[in-house]
Amino acid sequence: MLALELPPSVLKAIDKIRRAFLWKGRKDVKGGHCLLAWPKVTRPVFLGGLGISDLQKLGWALKLRWLWLQKTEPEKAWSFFPIQAQHQVQSFFAMAVKIVIGNGKNTSFWTDGWLLDQSLKQTLPHLYSAVAVRARKRTVFDAITDGRWISDIRGALSVQVLIEYIHLWELLSDVELQPEVEDLHIWKFTASGLYSTKSAYEALFIGATQFDPWERIWKSWAPGKCKFFLWTAAHNRCWTADRLAKRGLNHPPKCPLCDQIEETIDHLLVSCVFTRQFCFIILQQFGLQAAAPQLADICFVDWWGGVSNMLSGQGKKGVNSIIILGAWLI
Ligand SMILES: [Zn+2]
Repeated sequence: MLALELPPSVLKAIDKIRRAFLWKGRKDVKGGHCLLAWPKVTRPVFLGGLGISDLQKLGWALKLRWLWLQKTEPEKAWSFFPIQAQHQVQSFFAMAVKIVIGNGKNTSFWTDGWLLDQSLKQTLPHLYSAVAVRARKRTVFDAITDGRWISDIRGALSVQVLIEYIHLWELLSDVELQPEVEDLHIWKFTASGLYSTKSAYEALFIGATQFDPWERIWKSWAPGKCKFFLWTAAHNRCWTADRLAKRGLNHPPKCPLCDQIEETIDHLLVSCVFTRQFCFIILQQFGLQAAAPQLADICFVDWWGGVSNMLSGQGKKGVNSIIILGAWLI
């Protein structure tokens, strides 16, 4: 995947097998058996997934490594291989790498993010489209020497092109190349400034919502099947009466524990009168009875977060494990 791109049909076929294995442990699975959509399952754990790789994003992350090596180890023989990176990977690379310009010989004038946070191709799209195709690969050194970037402009000079031209002219007036210094490329997503596949992969999920209970679930001592249950419960994907009713399926009219209120995952795990009593008894063993759910606690994940925040270290991990086991038993 570093060099070649797997066709979408192959990725789809692999995902079909992985999805069926996860939800049913067999070769095929129907949509109804999958409690969570596959793109959510394949997110990193801190974003609510199971940390199973998203193959397309992993492929992009590995392609980014290729672009990174071409920049940072250009003297290697393989850096001249004509490996194609998709348009979105190139754009992401321009954004992910901070460039401190030296002699400008290993930085692409139009497609690297050397002057602004993004590439000039992205920030000045009208001007870029007016540049002769053969000149779009110029290095910063080549483009700036004798003002070649200006003579490369061949397309029609619309108003937008002229505005972007003047803007670039002004930006370049502050640029001075240093012939003795190599260009420096800094990867933005690691403290060391060096590329890593993990950091690249995770950066491709920027913007996704954090999954608050991930540490509580996955960094506990509870058995895997109990953690998995809590993961589905935290996403409200268990087949409680409210969700069965929404789909017009048979469901118990009231909570089977108290026979008073409609069954929802939050009712079962935190607000049912039986659950509150059950938690009180368990937490009492550790002197934490004051943390047992009260009438006002209506959201299991919020209540659990509150209890967990009162503790630290091993004690926190232990109580989180107990809460998971307790929820599993209910
Ligand atoms: Zn109840």
